[in-house]
Amino acid sequence: MYDHRKLGRELGLFDTDPLIGAGLPYWLPDGAIVRHGLEEYIRTAERRAGYRHVYSPVLGKRELYEISGHWAHYSDDMYPPMTIGGEQVVLRPSLCPHHAVIYRSQSHSYRELPLRMAELGAMYRSELSGALGGLTRVRCIHLNDAHIFCTLDQVGDEVAGALAMIDSAYRAMGIRAARYRLSLPGAGGKYAAAPDMWRHASKLLTEALDRSGLAYEAVEGEAAFYGPKIDVQVADHAGRESTLSTVQVDFYQPERFDLHYIGPDGAKHRPVMVHRSIIGSIERAVAYLIEQHGGAFPAWLAPVQVAVLPVSEADESGAEELRYRCAAAGLRAEVIGADAGSLAARVRAARLVPYQFVLGPAERANGDVAVRVRDGRRLPVQRSADAIAHIRALVDKYETRLWAD
Ligand SMILES: [Zn+2]
Repeated sequence: MYDHRKLGRELGLFDTDPLIGAGLPYWLPDGAIVRHGLEEYIRTAERRAGYRHVYSPVLGKRELYEISGHWAHYSDDMYPPMTIGGEQVVLRPSLCPHHAVIYRSQSHSYRELPLRMAELGAMYRSELSGALGGLTRVRCIHLNDAHIFCTLDQVGDEVAGALAMIDSAYRAMGIRAARYRLSLPGAGGKYAAAPDMWRHASKLLTEALDRSGLAYEAVEGEAAFYGPKIDVQVADHAGRESTLSTVQVDFYQPERFDLHYIGPDGAKHRPVMVHRSIIGSIERAVAYLIEQHGGAFPAWLAPVQVAVLPVSEADESGAEELRYRCAAAGLRAEVIGADAGSLAARVRAARLVPYQFVLGPAERANGDVAVRVRDGRRLPVQRSADAIAHIRALVDKYETRLWAD
């Protein structure tokens, strides 16, 4: 069983310093590679699914969060406001209000819907220092967030689309969901404002889950104050669950920000806002991946993808050239030279690296390489160009299989 805090330090992925502060980890170069990998994965998946990316500032005026309801509901988790030039600004507790304002900045026709707006942005939570640790309890969270502005009738397809993206992302990351939880309104008064809409939204979420064929558990009375939601739970080795991904239907923010679109009838209509996160926060996702894989990341995420191991000193310039060719093909490779120990010792030292290229005089003479795979397989000697192309193709497809026969 792995502890991401311990392993994260041992692998040189991230650390903290009391001078920067508790709950404010910094990312070391190898950790930054893993993070970039996830960020690029998600941005690419979102672009393919018709999302457009925006950037919005991490600060906003207090009024913004008063309108969104965060000031009333979440001010305990927010940092105190800073006064600048007679105005109060706060570090944002969520990206939603910014995206609602961006939507509102232009008029929209029904033809533009569903309008999918994504951002991988920072948000802040004033956690007490006693509760902080590693990447799971932090004061600054980078959320893979998106908001889909759509009609009520489009909600079902958008939810199904988000669930499909979650499924693909989990497959690529080599993890699986422990449970899908559908949180529905209960009998309480907070849902009473628009019972028809609530019923409709709950029905659409239920149908989307049924259509996806996923097993789920419906819990009444657990909905957010602004609408029903689906939480995707993952479990650690001890069986402790946490929420990684969410899909939520929201009628509240569109009302608060007076959002609308022009319908086919030429009149103004209120859109629905679907909040969704595919991999949740980068911090939680990386912590979970470290613990699930024990640092042996899928090849596309591994900080070093290929360890080039020259058999002896005489093979080192050949190894350096091979490393260069891997880099030219877009693979992250590193030479572990003979001065680092015996071949067996270096193979052990590189045990988390998905591929090891062993290079001796015979391979060097023929442009070949002996490939060892992290799972213990030793492949027949092959052309080094073929091995590089094979790995490149697997990495491009976000394969968790290390070698396809
Ligand atoms: Zn949101």
